Formats: sequence, structure tokens, C-alpha cells
Amino acid sequence: MAGMLYLVPTPIGNLGDISIRCRQTLESVDFIAAEDTRVTLKLLNHLGIKKSLVSYYEHNKAFKGNVILDRILAGETCALVSDAGSPAISDPGEELVVLCAQHGITVCAIPGPCAVITALSISGQATGRFCFEGFLSTAKKSRREHLESLIGETRTMIFYEAPHKLLNTLEDMADTFGADRPISLCRELTKLHEEVVRTTLGEAIAKYTENPPKGEFVLVVAGAPVQEKVQPTADDAAKRVAQLMESGISRKDAIKQTAKELDLPKNVVYDAALTVE
Ligand code: SAM
Repeated sequence: MAGMLYLVPTPIGNLGDISIRCRQTLESVDFIAAEDTRVTLKLLNHLGIKKSLVSYYEHNKAFKGNVILDRILAGETCALVSDAGSPAISDPGEELVVLCAQHGITVCAIPGPCAVITALSISGQATGRFCFEGFLSTAKKSRREHLESLIGETRTMIFYEAPHKLLNTLEDMADTFGADRPISLCRELTKLHEEVVRTTLGEAIAKYTENPPKGEFVLVVAGAPVQEKVQPTADDAAKRVAQLMESGISRKDAIKQTAKELDLPKNVVYDAALTVE
């Protein structure tokens, strides 16, 4: 009988955040697949757990994924961990989940530390609707394209960012979304120097130009303000019909086009157009 894959989240700073269930799973599985075995070994030593480790990271995942799969198919259970936080979220794991699912292997995700959710909760930005955008590309062109694709985004947007790229990213964001767009910069979450700076893009640029950023950041950016839809009136419809007729369009077509443009029922536009000569 095939084994199982467990996705085990690990602390993003505070070792106390490892859950009882995560600990029990790390103790009970046959082996652990880790992004960096040295990092995971430190955690296991802290927990007093001895377990066989295999490495599974960005540059060996194609090959190692199949090795892990074969072991699970042969009946072993595996816990996948990344250096910190939830595996498969901007971390290796996504492909292993797909591979296991394709082979009918049960995948069990244990809930736990995740930088994106921790940051959103503490950000003070709207939490009802949000989108996670991961890391922006290091290449200026694709970073810009990514940001431009979010110009009309009204949901709260969340990004992971490294400190050395923070200023460039904030400048690109200010150019794209406007310097007055609210942002919460969530730094060193769950660690001794945890800090949440709730400000605007323009002010964040000023702050971090003066004091170069240090530590790990999650950027929680307010979405674009929702534009109130103004309901067109019969007068608007009459004016538009008149405009179209002046340009040579027949009354019938002008009514049809106006109804479509203003998203009004045709009979409403028809009645409004009775006043148009
Ligand atoms: N899978 C992990 C998760 O979802 O928590 C994220 C891994 S990703 C490679 C690392 C990024 O997560 C960092 O560059 C930073 O943006 C964010 N991050 C991780 N730990 C953090 C912390 N303690 N405080 C702020 N951001 C953190």
C-alpha cells in the first residue's frame, strides 16, 4: 500500500510556533524531505527528533521529486518542510503535490505558520478579499509588467520581498499605483524585532532611503479604490441618442447602442429618446 505525503509548516521566526501536530508528524514519518537539510536539522535538534532527511529544493526538485515519489509509492510516509513557513507557498512543494496527486497518493496539509497570512492579519488593510502575488521578478521589465497588470486590482495585494530589493520595488509600486497608496510593511514577523509600518508608498520610500531596510518583509498593499458606478439617467440616455443620431446613425440603432453602452433596458432608452427630434 502506498504511503502518504504530509506538508508540514515550520516557524517563520519563533520556534514556539511549531504545533503539537507538526511535531508528532515529524516524529512519526519515515523520512523528511527538506529544502535545506542544515536548517531543518537545527529545528529537529531543537525538538529532540532524529529522522532521516533528504534534500528537496528548487534545483534538484525534478529529479528528487521522483525519488521521493518512488519511496512513497513503496509504502513510506514523508513530511515535506521548507526553511520556514508553509511548504509550496513561494517555496518548493507545489510540483511534489502535483506529482503525488497524479499518482493517487494522499497529501495532507497541516495548517501552521505562513508569512502571507500572518502579515495580512496584522496589516490593518482590508482582509475580506486579497490576492497573493508572491515575489516580483528581479528583472525590471517583468517586475513592471507584473505591477501594471495589477493597476485595476481592488483587492488587497500581498507580496514577498527581500530587503535589498525593497526600495526598487517600492519605487516601481509608487510609479504604478501612486505615491499615496496605503501600504503595510510587515517585517521580521514573530521575531524579536517584529515591526509593522502602516504608511503610504511615498512615505515608505522616504523612510527606507534614510534607514536602509533589514530583515524579511511582507508588503501588504491596499487595492485600488472601488469606483462607485453612477446609474445613468433618462436624460443621459436622451443626450447619447441625440449625439449618435447627429453623427448619422439611425434612431433605432442609436437606441440599441445607447442601451448597450449605458447598460439600460431598451424600452427605457426608447422612452427617453421620444424627446429627441
Ligand atoms: N513558504 C513561506 C511562507 O509562506 O511562510 C515563505 C517562503 S519565501 C521563500 C520567504 C519570504 O517570506 C521572505 O522573503 C519574506 O518575504 C517572507 N517571510 C518569511 N518569514 C518572514 C518573517 N518572519 N517576517 C516577514 N516576512 C517573512
